[in-house]
Amino acid sequence: MAVGVVIVYGGGFSWFIVVAVFFVLGVAFTLYKYGYKRKLGGAQGKGGARNWPHILANGGLASIIAVCNYFAPSAALAAMFLGAVSTSAADTAATELGLLSHSRPKLITHPSKWVYPGTSGGVSPLGFAGAAFASLVIGALATPLGILSDPYLVIPGCLVGGLFGAVVDSLIGAGVQRKGECVVCLKPTEDLKHCGEPTKAIGGVPYIENNVVNVLSTVAGAAAALAILLV
Ligand SMILES: [Zn+2]
Repeated sequence: MAVGVVIVYGGGFSWFIVVAVFFVLGVAFTLYKYGYKRKLGGAQGKGGARNWPHILANGGLASIIAVCNYFAPSAALAAMFLGAVSTSAADTAATELGLLSHSRPKLITHPSKWVYPGTSGGVSPLGFAGAAFASLVIGALATPLGILSDPYLVIPGCLVGGLFGAVVDSLIGAGVQRKGECVVCLKPTEDLKHCGEPTKAIGGVPYIENNVVNVLSTVAGAAAALAILLV
């Protein structure tokens, strides 16, 4: 709600529609074959509902951009907004579709090494297709909304922003993201809590947890979309 209100005030109703499209896409991809992903152990808990740090990590940059746009609206801010939202959509779609991949995901930094579906930094053709699809849907639906004065730049901005952001997300996930272990069930996890207990850090940088990775990747996606506007 708070993110939605800030976006409406800062960017107007057209920006809000873009966030709403992301929200619907996210829910659809999360619930798609939810039972199967649950069995796999990779599904989001609580019926797919996200907690507030997760929402802030994904919507925080978009909200900050909307606040800036409230005071000084510009095409650059609009492009960055599209890139940030496309990254969140691409990342969500890639994660949720990638879980269903029949081919083993490969680590983006070591393509010869396969990892379990759901591992941060793991990539698969299906996940990449999901990222491209989600970015395209955001771009196609945002094109007629007049967010950028040149409507032909909306789809390229969303596609390049979303894919670049998702790739950066995977690179950080494979490289420096905190890896933890549950002290109760001993499962490897990226969550800070598992089985109701704080997890033990066993690798990566302790402060770079999943939500920090999301913030960094939306920054990368926003920058990539801005670059499309400027070239
Ligand atoms: Zn556990």
